[in-house]
Amino acid sequence: MLCDAHCHLDGSAELAALQRDEHILAVINCQSPTEWETNRSLVGDHQPLSFGIHPWAATTLHWAEVTPYLEATQLIGEIGMDSVWTDVNLLEQARLFEAQLHFAHDHRKPVILHTKGCERAVLTAIRKYPNRYLVHWYASPEYQADYIRLDCYFTIGPDVLTDPAVTQLAKTIPLNRLLIETDGLSAVAWAQHRPVQVTDYPAILKQSLRIVANLRGLAPVDLEAQVYQNLQRFLS
Ligand SMILES: [Zn+2]
Repeated sequence: MLCDAHCHLDGSAELAALQRDEHILAVINCQSPTEWETNRSLVGDHQPLSFGIHPWAATTLHWAEVTPYLEATQLIGEIGMDSVWTDVNLLEQARLFEAQLHFAHDHRKPVILHTKGCERAVLTAIRKYPNRYLVHWYASPEYQADYIRLDCYFTIGPDVLTDPAVTQLAKTIPLNRLLIETDGLSAVAWAQHRPVQVTDYPAILKQSLRIVANLRGLAPVDLEAQVYQNLQRFLS
């Protein structure tokens, strides 16, 4: 059974339908109240939704308007910090990130982390809030061992063969903490420098499984079962 531990639907009813028809377990990320409502109507109760204020939106969404969604969701994320792909003030990002970490900790909700360029700051912050963490598409060669020591789950993205830091991580994560993600079809198109259709989606997941299985000396079918089990455990 295939699974995708971090996916953005970007409003695609076609992708939601394919995931449902092919029985692909996918964690659907929602980064605004509007997106939550859209995704809920697209997937119903078939898929787990995650909700969190993305670092890129740290100055545009306000705590009061998102609280009902943080309460409704079973997973908080993706949340974190980013010094590479956004100009949003880092102090504002840190303040909101920490508020959400605190909320997740108090409400015992697992967290999906975005760490781009701020790997050290995110590591320092999560040490203060023991919880179940999933580090989404970690692509830094630094601090990998530190995150592993905190018993985090990791999603391997579709650039596993082209980004040496991702390849390295895929080789070293404990097998029971390893997950696969697409981050949505536009992220796959970006990572693989090619146009991607909704119908390509199962093949994208299978390709990542094949590559990681090869790196780990496993049969793809065994890794597929392991990764599915890992995601169920993360969600439980
Ligand atoms: Zn994402």
